Amino acid sequence: MKIIILNESKAADPLNHVEKRVAVTPGSAQKLVKKGITLLLEQGAGEASGYADKEYAAVGVTIIADVNPVLPTVDMLAAVNKPSEAHLALMKKGAMVVGHLDPFFQQPLIESIAEKGLTALSVEMIPRSSRAQKMDALSSQASLAGYVMVMQAVNQLPSILPMMMTPSGTIKPAKVFVLGAGVAGLQAIATARRLGANVLAYDTRPVVAEQVESLGGKFLNIDIGETGQTKDGYAKELTDEQKARQQDAQRDAIAGSDIVITTAQLFGRKPPVLITKATLALMKPGSVVVDMAATSGGNVEGSVAGETIEINGVKVIGDGYWSQAVARAATDMYANNIYNLIDEFFDDESRSFGLNLDDDILAGSVIAHNGKITNDMLLNAYRGA
Ligand code: NAD
Repeated sequence: MKIIILNESKAADPLNHVEKRVAVTPGSAQKLVKKGITLLLEQGAGEASGYADKEYAAVGVTIIADVNPVLPTVDMLAAVNKPSEAHLALMKKGAMVVGHLDPFFQQPLIESIAEKGLTALSVEMIPRSSRAQKMDALSSQASLAGYVMVMQAVNQLPSILPMMMTPSGTIKPAKVFVLGAGVAGLQAIATARRLGANVLAYDTRPVVAEQVESLGGKFLNIDIGETGQTKDGYAKELTDEQKARQQDAQRDAIAGSDIVITTAQLFGRKPPVLITKATLALMKPGSVVVDMAATSGGNVEGSVAGETIEINGVKVIGDGYWSQAVARAATDMYANNIYNLIDEFFDDESRSFGLNLDDDILAGSVIAHNGKITNDMLLNAYRGA
């Protein structure tokens, strides 16, 4: 089996951002090579996350300067992001593409992958089950995002998070409000707590109240009626009346906070707007809002993808490339996710990836195979159902 890793830092995205992560580390590469896998890595692919070509070469990886002549020979392209059409066009029928393919918002790309007869595995679609945890890239990157968002907020805040009692006076602990207490939100709560802030959090899934409290945060109870969650544990979209009730009930908490971090997502849909400009205007000048969802539509009205802006004296951070701010840690975790995925399904006899589509992990995450899009959730979304 031959796997290729591209240098994703070579091409910038539409926001002119350059990817810093890579799908293998020298450590994970060594384990893949030990399985008998031929691993090809495009020159410089690990540099932005701190891994030099020579570290890969030392564990048996072949470093490639021009990937185009070898792409038709590979069985798998393991990536962080969606590969370019130009690269995909060179791959042979039946080869696999693995990465964050952003399938709900990349219909033309996924259709084109299917038409080319490639097999696509989208890491966002890996089920949130106990067995799949070690391959769960959404969680690994979201945990780091939670940490990074607090760090970025701290860097903008003209004050400190912990209480400080000194002969020169007492500084009260900062108030941090976290909206959305999924993987990223919980990590943001834990990080802000460690730095000494008072943390309040809200999520439409009441089941997370206990998790918030176990991290030392307080849960804001808002009665918005039945919310529930999907069978996979994702939030359901609120009705207009529920949205209005949530906005009313959280207004005071936002106005009184030094830092607000929004992490609310609806799987496969645009994230909900949680903070309007009118609510933002109630915050003290110098306060900081971090909008985790800025690059995919935004939880905060007026936030700008990829930028930190000021609205009425409030800093609104919309960076969006959260885990990449700690690229080495993000790469280490993602490379483990990819290794664990390959290891789980590697067939030692044929020395290839065993594509058992009856397995629940692959049934969920393989979204294109044999010329067709194979995931019902996606097909429904594409049909607008
Ligand atoms: P996510 O990124 O889809 O959303 C983040 C959070 O935003 C969620 O907690 C969601 O409830 C919340 N949210 C949505 N609308 C909101 C609103 N209007 N106001 C406030 N909050 C709102 O979620 P996630 O972090 O990917 O987690 C999704 C689920 O998957 C959770 O139940 C989590 O515990 C579960 N999970 C399970 C595993 C596992 O078992 N292996 C791994 C990771 C996550």
